[in-house]
Amino acid sequence: MKGGKLIIFSAPSGSGKTTIVRHLLEKPELNLAFSVSATSRPRRGKEKQGEHYYFMSISEFKNHIKNDDFLEWEEVYRDNFYGTLKSEIERLWAQGKNVIFDIDVAGGLRIKRKFPDTTLAVFVKPPSVDELKIRLKKRSTESDDKINMRIAKASVELATAPQFDKIIKNYDLDVALDEAYRLVADFVGVNKENEDE
Ligand code: 5GP
Repeated sequence: MKGGKLIIFSAPSGSGKTTIVRHLLEKPELNLAFSVSATSRPRRGKEKQGEHYYFMSISEFKNHIKNDDFLEWEEVYRDNFYGTLKSEIERLWAQGKNVIFDIDVAGGLRIKRKFPDTTLAVFVKPPSVDELKIRLKKRSTESDDKINMRIAKASVELATAPQFDKIIKNYDLDVALDEAYRLVADFVGVNKENEDE
């Protein structure tokens, strides 16, 4: 596989990486396209097939693993598989896009290792594990059990931050959004003057 640039945002669940990724996707000059992942987790609320995820059964997901269709995949939570289909990246590269990912830390680092020179791997750091808990509860998309599972994983994930190219502290969202823009603009080679257009 060969193509354009890859920009990865990884972080514990609730750190705000999805908000950052959505913000960057609204900037046409960055020429970004979102890598839609495959997942076996159930669809939440307003999520759309093929837009937020390619939702599929566990057995469909396992078939893709068997066929070597994934660039990377993880069982992020028990029985909840997530993965990046090679076909998705090839599709976006064929459109001449830089591909942006919202994926877990293990998957992010795996892609960085596969494409070390063309990948920018960014870790989004939450203020604290307690603050993560508050954010996840506020979001109220998961049960208490699931929230606790995500919190338990967060401590392990935080320890991987130094392996990323850059770390953004998401203590103040506006500051984090600006910093993310600057990092990505530099990486894809957009001039600073374009920022205010
Ligand atoms: P959620 O269920 O909240 O949408 O996502 C749970 C976690 O799985 C998040 O950290 C999200 O970034 C991660 N994730 C989403 N897609 C992928 C993927 O394709 N690969 C990996 N490794 N993780 C993913």
